[in-house]
Amino acid sequence: MIDKTKAQKRKLLVIDDEPEIGAFIRDVAYEMDYDAVATHRPDHFEQLYSDNLDVIVLDLVMPERDGVELLRVIANLGSNASIILISGYDKGVLHSAQKLASEQGLHVVGTLTKPIRYSDLEDLLGSIVFTDKDALLEISSFVELPTEEELHNAFRNDELEPFFQPKINFSNNSLAGVEALIRWNHPERGLLGADIIIPLAEAAGLMDMLSTEVLQQSFKRTSQWLNEGLKTNIAINMAPCNFKDLNLPEWIADNINKYGLGTDQITLEVTETTLMQELIKSLDILTRLRMKKVKLSIDDFGTGYSSLVQLHRIPFSEMKIDQSFVMRATTDKEALAIVKMTILLGHELGMAVVAEGIEDQATWELLTKLGCDIAQGYFIAKPMPGCDIVDWDNKRVRS
Ligand code: C2E
Ligand code: MG
Ligand code: MG
Repeated sequence: MIDKTKAQKRKLLVIDDEPEIGAFIRDVAYEMDYDAVATHRPDHFEQLYSDNLDVIVLDLVMPERDGVELLRVIANLGSNASIILISGYDKGVLHSAQKLASEQGLHVVGTLTKPIRYSDLEDLLGSIVFTDKDALLEISSFVELPTEEELHNAFRNDELEPFFQPKINFSNNSLAGVEALIRWNHPERGLLGADIIIPLAEAAGLMDMLSTEVLQQSFKRTSQWLNEGLKTNIAINMAPCNFKDLNLPEWIADNINKYGLGTDQITLEVTETTLMQELIKSLDILTRLRMKKVKLSIDDFGTGYSSLVQLHRIPFSEMKIDQSFVMRATTDKEALAIVKMTILLGHELGMAVVAEGIEDQATWELLTKLGCDIAQGYFIAKPMPGCDIVDWDNKRVRS
């Protein structure tokens, strides 16, 4: 067995039909202490390939055998290498190829457009985080995921609790509302996030129970905040199975009454994918919810497949731009275009537009300039327990 120690050099292979570009990348990699090889003959790929390659730099457009075809070959070989894609074409082509590669299970760490700048290449090669495969195996066998049985227990033992992430109005910095995000206070494993809970609940057929739990705890928490002098809106994420029950609007309205809340204090977030799964029932339920003045928000906008006609048919009050676009808006022209168009579209359809995933000042300033209405992201605050929200808001207002 080959034991890759730290002392061993990382192996890199470049395939580019322009020999001088291949040589340039090879030389930069060599200076960075890689064991680098370049070829301008894509038909030589199989001869040069080995399982212990760490990085493959691949030109997408080559006359005899293009990079997309090679990506398929690399995927079939089960390669674990970090892949860098290069192209002389626009970034759109690189984005599509990157998606295609990810869908085939490949690990694309970055893309470069020709002409390649020395500093961009150096930054990219320097930023690759290599995971020792043996160590990874050890970690994955150690960190086993919780079981369905543990999730059942979590419901019984009240271990599930929504955290709340504040949203702020760009115009005057006031609190626009909070989003409920599920967390699990696991007795042995500590605090677990939605990325673990949601897939497990889906697999165990417990999503309905989870939504009911989050809704009830959220209603309760909102009424506690009212008692503490904070009247705010709470947004809850809905799952596809929630739209199987035509009584949902009445159940929500009853709870709003029970907890003494205003209907405008509740927002339900749905994703485009959620809608597609139960379209007719969703339309019925969402229309009746809107008639009861409950707010509706379309979450992760831009990642699903809803047509403009569907958007117009459903009475949404709010649109949330997916964080993948927001996070890249200051550095990526295409992401910026999507953010700009989404804001225009949302406003034209009479919706408030929320940008989620704001992580820094520059993104905050950009979104302010673009006329976005509401901000959500780590730059403002991370999700926190319900008992901390009033304090958080008071401190912010005072400072
Ligand atoms: P989402 O509804 O789009 O929620 C936003 C997610 O982005 C949350 O992750 C939030 O913590 C995270 N986030 C917010 N700002 C930032 C930021 O600036 N940087 C980064 N890196 N992340 C940020 P979380 O809590 O892990 O939830 C993930 C997804 O799981 C949610 O995406 C939602 O689709 C789902 N989810 C969470 N709670 C529930 C729930 O109670 N019910 C249902 N059905 N789905 C839920
Ligand atoms: Mg959401
Ligand atoms: Mg989202």
